[in-house]
Amino acid sequence: MDSKSFNPFEMAQEQFDKVADLLDLDQATRDLLRNPIREYHFSIPARMDDGSVKIFKGFRVQHNDARGPGKGGIRFHPQETADTVRALAMWMTWKCAAVDIPLGGSKGGVVCDPHSLSMREQEQICRGWIRQIARDIGPITDVPAPDVMTSAQHMLWMLDEFETIRGGKYPGLITGKPVGMGGSLGRKEATGYGVIFTVREALKELGIRPDGTTASVQGFGNVAQHAIELYQQIGGTVMSVSCWDQDDQTTYAFKKKDGINLDELRKIADRFGGIDKGKAKDLGYEVLPGDLWLEQDVDILIPSALENQINLENVNKISKRVKIIAEGANGPTGPRADEVIQERGIFMIPDFVANAGGVTCSYFEQVQSNMNYYWERDQVLGKLDVKMTSAFIAVSDLAKKRKLYMRDAAYVIAVSRVAQICRDRGWV
Ligand code: NAD
Repeated sequence: MDSKSFNPFEMAQEQFDKVADLLDLDQATRDLLRNPIREYHFSIPARMDDGSVKIFKGFRVQHNDARGPGKGGIRFHPQETADTVRALAMWMTWKCAAVDIPLGGSKGGVVCDPHSLSMREQEQICRGWIRQIARDIGPITDVPAPDVMTSAQHMLWMLDEFETIRGGKYPGLITGKPVGMGGSLGRKEATGYGVIFTVREALKELGIRPDGTTASVQGFGNVAQHAIELYQQIGGTVMSVSCWDQDDQTTYAFKKKDGINLDELRKIADRFGGIDKGKAKDLGYEVLPGDLWLEQDVDILIPSALENQINLENVNKISKRVKIIAEGANGPTGPRADEVIQERGIFMIPDFVANAGGVTCSYFEQVQSNMNYYWERDQVLGKLDVKMTSAFIAVSDLAKKRKLYMRDAAYVIAVSRVAQICRDRGWV
């Protein structure tokens, strides 16, 4: 599973089975939590700019809603599969439980490549996605959000379509809306900043001051850019970043001797987080194809792109200097690679703790939208820091107390919370 046959849902189930054994869960609870409660697969007809109609495949998976309405993003990706969405929905259940917000886990997606679609065509897909699922989502049932290759603009089109169908204003339907149109200040930086709140806490535990540390980041999208921004503010230096190159259909790492300059790279990146290779070379960057972000001699690795990026084929390339891996992405480490990382004693901050800042802030956005009262950015980020820090400390305390790997400790906390409410509701 660590190679090309990688299936994210099998990975999510394998992680769950391990913790189900640790918690000695009964069979009914295992059967309930191992699979989504509901899922929807649909076809979305969209009229292209040339007048033709194209049919896109769409999904919404609701893994578990015992703790509250489902919550989870919508991904636009050419390699999207039902199993990717199932895995991501399941991880959302654990993530909301890990940070203890009253929400369940869902995820959605469309098989499409926004690189080759005009904004008008993307609008058709967003509206079409809502038309297929409007009956089965809503502020008190299931609340979508942006994810890979979707943005505030996509969320607003979706909200507009939903309100047109339902007749009325439902700002709590969706999060990640533009600021000024129901969006929360702080949402765009929340996931990346949240990653660094947990890195800061991990460094504290290891007795290392953040200034003077170095990191290598995979990805240069929303999560990566904001993680880099805050990491630099606390004194760290990012030695390299990497991104997907649409023209060459491969990845490139961008390196600079004294560390990358976030502002100059932002200026030459597109809206999908792809960096212009030629312009980067002109600015003095080394541009190297492949997995090199992983091999850097740095203190911290921050994978912030996609699933299964650290696997059995490359895990041994991680430098001896690496002390912390903070998973900005969902599921970036395969189970076999995880075993190697655990054996090596690298401090792992697992995805559903490290990147929970996004959903936590989405929850704050829901609260604000439902109250129709908006908080200042500092208030939002302050509340976010409190939530992320307490979730991190709870996981790390349990890991120490029960001598567990951090991922297992996070799973124990999250799965017990969900299993408990399923029992209390009388479901199992
Ligand atoms: P994004 O679309 O803004 O950026 C993705 C980045 O990854 C781009 O820079 C792209 O070039 C790069 N990339 C894609 N494939 C790559 C590869 N094979 N190698 C190297 N780089 C590659 O996406 P995002 O919102 O930053 O999300 C990144 C990850 O974080 C995803 O796993 C997502 O599910 C997760 N996540 C996002 C949020 C959020 O709030 N955006 C919240 C929680 C988790």
